[in-house]
Amino acid sequence: MKFKFYGVRGSIASPGLETVRYGGNTACVFVETGVEAGAENNALLVFDAGTGIRKLGDDMLARRDFSKRNKPDIHIFFSHYHWDHIQGFPFFKPAYRYRQKINLIAAHLREGDARAVLDQMIDPHFPVPGDQLHAQVNVLSLDENCELEIGDAIVSAMPLNHPGGGSAYRVTTAQGSIAYVTDNELVPPDTPRTTLEQWRQFLHGVDYLIHDAMYLENEKEAHLGWGHSILPETLALARDAEVKNLLLFHHAPERTDIELDRLEAQSQAWMKQQGSVCRVLMAKEGDEYQL
Ligand SMILES: [Zn+2]
Ligand SMILES: [Zn+2]
Repeated sequence: MKFKFYGVRGSIASPGLETVRYGGNTACVFVETGVEAGAENNALLVFDAGTGIRKLGDDMLARRDFSKRNKPDIHIFFSHYHWDHIQGFPFFKPAYRYRQKINLIAAHLREGDARAVLDQMIDPHFPVPGDQLHAQVNVLSLDENCELEIGDAIVSAMPLNHPGGGSAYRVTTAQGSIAYVTDNELVPPDTPRTTLEQWRQFLHGVDYLIHDAMYLENEKEAHLGWGHSILPETLALARDAEVKNLLLFHHAPERTDIELDRLEAQSQAWMKQQGSVCRVLMAKEGDEYQL
């Protein structure tokens, strides 16, 4: 199994000289299972369709398996439907290809909300309506245990602490596990949908945790209830849940490359000082990890 970041930014795309190294595209992570030699039954899983999904679509179309008549199915999981998580979908080229199946999946959101991804394409916002795409677009839901089996992967979901709700996901295969938890306030001012203890259980021992760490300690008060975590809370969760690798995600649009470098070094020093072996890194557009 491997995964690659196509967008790591929160709220709004933020291109520019000060963000060029970590990247300015909004949330999109591509997970591919079964990439090991001799593996069969692989799954192509996309987490969120922020502006980063445009490049992912181009990369997919350049693959040999996408030039065949029977193209691999694409599964897009949505954390929720805020702009920064859906806005790239109209520019995802596989959606305009015949004989391409795309499954849209979400959990812990209001019934019918899955249409939001296609409804953003209505006139006057976009020239091609969402119901006129050439790909076969289906809306899938999870089973009663909030799980879905795709190829050799099991994806399980957990409710986010975020305005309007949403879902975190954990992908498990024989190679290991990856969790995608963005737009999540670990210590919200009101009753959480998922408590810290439940997060520790859901994420326990995960190989890679991709988690929201949008704000800093001194920014907490001004953003209470906004549905994002502060860096120290995310680090403490990774330590307590015995996460092997933590990737800090959903960077604030104004956070510069230099600041992210400094925060990464500080986070690594904190983890070491805590006696934890968890490796901490800033999520960076274009970076790829293999399990
Ligand atoms: Zn967001
Ligand atoms: Zn959001």
